[in-house]
Amino acid sequence: MNKSIVSIVKYENPLESVRKVIELTNGFEHLPSKARVFIKPNIVYWNRYCDIPKWGVITTSRVIEDVVILLKEHGINDIIIGEGIVSEDPKDTETANDAFEKLGYNLLKDQYGVKAFNIFERPFEKIELTEGLTAKMNSDMINSDFLVNIPVLKTHAQCVVSLGIKNLKGLINIASRKKFHSADPIRNLHFNVAQLANKTPPSLTIIDGIYTLERGPAIDGKAHRNNILVASKDIFAADVVGANLLDIDPSAVPHLVQASKDRNRPLDLSDIDIVGEKIEDLATPHEWDYIYSNNNTLPLPYQKAGITGIKYHKYDETMCTYCSGLNGILLSGIKMAWKGEPFDDVEILTGKVMKPTPGMNKTILVGQCIYNENKDDPNINEVIAIKGCPPSIEDVQKALKQVGIKVPSYFFKNLDKAPLIFMGRYQNNPEFEESFYQIH
Ligand code: SF4
Repeated sequence: MNKSIVSIVKYENPLESVRKVIELTNGFEHLPSKARVFIKPNIVYWNRYCDIPKWGVITTSRVIEDVVILLKEHGINDIIIGEGIVSEDPKDTETANDAFEKLGYNLLKDQYGVKAFNIFERPFEKIELTEGLTAKMNSDMINSDFLVNIPVLKTHAQCVVSLGIKNLKGLINIASRKKFHSADPIRNLHFNVAQLANKTPPSLTIIDGIYTLERGPAIDGKAHRNNILVASKDIFAADVVGANLLDIDPSAVPHLVQASKDRNRPLDLSDIDIVGEKIEDLATPHEWDYIYSNNNTLPLPYQKAGITGIKYHKYDETMCTYCSGLNGILLSGIKMAWKGEPFDDVEILTGKVMKPTPGMNKTILVGQCIYNENKDDPNINEVIAIKGCPPSIEDVQKALKQVGIKVPSYFFKNLDKAPLIFMGRYQNNPEFEESFYQIH
């Protein structure tokens, strides 16, 4: 049996560590000369109003620059970096510009002639990922000769891990992303994510684990400095090794289970040859799930804080990214509004498939999908609709007010700066260096 090679290296030095991890897996073996190369980083979130903790959340600019230098050494001059950052307003292009500027991608343009594209300003092509599943995917990547896919070594609240395969979701358009969070119990998010790598050009996956993330994928997770780099020409093998390094069994990752079935591959490393460092020397436990109590109707910390009179059901995989962002805002607002008195038997439903509990006084339906699903349900006493797709912050604010959850007005006024709360975790810790996200 021909085994796939996956290399693991400890990050020690700029350029040389990335060179080593690529060479150990012979990563540029299928890189044609004069190729057009597409680099896909992971910029899952950006905020142009304040600093955000990027550690474990965003691909380091250090690794991106090293890959660009190594490609140039191979004589490659046509290099594109492309990403589709989700922001509150789908027409917003400022956020991507700001991210590319501050992460140093514009300097890469000046120094190495690299192009940095916000994929929402570029053409999409409709492709059939598998029978019965189409997506509109960035045309620059599809028409490249080679893909260098550079996810972060991190966990994901819905997908368990977000590594090479999941990183490609950032290259499909908004409508396709919404479709991926399907209410179909079989062809669900995990099935769809497993198909993302089916139509790429030859590729090299480099997993950036200089910083890793628990309870990812975003800024409210907990980052660790782990100095790990993983590389493979086989995206599935890279992800299986990545999951192991997070101490997560790949058989507990639904999209990897699906990908293994589709490829007729084992999940247990038996068809993978690991070179360089050993998994057992570097793997550390990473929690991925958010624990809820009371039959999944309240986040555990809320129950511990004694919050009553509210059912806030645990998110499911049908909730897509826009509603996920609002989910965090709603939960934070409710926590701030809690003054020790029970709320008025309020229930909050999200995603596409949740159903109301009989006997609640007020039911907030967050987003167009769950509104359409439940608006006429006889088990709802009073509907408070947060319509829209994506729903607006103003409607969230109004809905909370309407059910008597009094969130201080400064909370909504300062939402743009909310990520600063999470920066505090890393302050004065020299392991968390901003310079990894800068190009000099
Ligand atoms: S309403 Fe929310 S869950 Fe429904 S498609 Fe829009 S963003 Fe996704």
